Amino acid sequence: MDDIHRLIRAIDFAAAKHRNQRRKDEEASPYINHPIALTQVLKVEAGVSDIDVLAAALLHDTIEDTETTAEELQREFGPRIAGIVAEVSDDTSLPKVERKRLQVEHAATLSREAKLVKLADKICNLRDMLDAPPAKWDLARRKEYFEWAKEVVDNLRGTHPRLEALFDLAYAGKP
Ligand code: NDP
Ligand code: ZN
Repeated sequence: MDDIHRLIRAIDFAAAKHRNQRRKDEEASPYINHPIALTQVLKVEAGVSDIDVLAAALLHDTIEDTETTAEELQREFGPRIAGIVAEVSDDTSLPKVERKRLQVEHAATLSREAKLVKLADKICNLRDMLDAPPAKWDLARRKEYFEWAKEVVDNLRGTHPRLEALFDLAYAGKP
């Protein structure tokens, strides 16, 4: 399978898996916009060309937010892409507060590829938190989210200066 073929299959797979999901913004945007936004940040804004990282970005929420398993991703996309997605997936059996704490703790131990996806995810979520925030989230909760995202990113710095600068730019808009 060549690179473009693999990337198209990742878009198609993610779109199918997230087809019935919406983001938390007022308009309830289609969920797939978010994984696509990550690839835009990685490739277009930061120049990341590793096709497995771009494919993993497209698939990054499939294990956490759909019934997709790591084994299924491994079968469809091979061990490298499946491994990156597994690394950036929370253990959904844990309580939310514990999951947040573990993201901060584990950020430093991620592979470089997973750190790139994690950085893009946090950039996109901060931008969304400013431009199209979750309906019903008050100011305090949005601020808390910015602070938590920064704690995660502070533990993986030294990975990609351009992406980290894009994160800092988004963070500077903290409400
Ligand atoms: P989350 O922190 O899980 O919600 C944020 C996540 O939602 C993002 O990381 C993103 O994840 C996704 N998302 C979807 N739509 C948007 C959007 N438009 N903008 C930004 N992000 C979006 O919230 P939970 O409701 O699960 O609560 C988790 C934590 O919040 C708890 O641990 C608790 O501490 C805290 N909390 C605070 C309250 C308060 O009033 N201060 C009240 C209740 C909880 P992804 O990229 O994976 O889609
Ligand atoms: Zn995400």
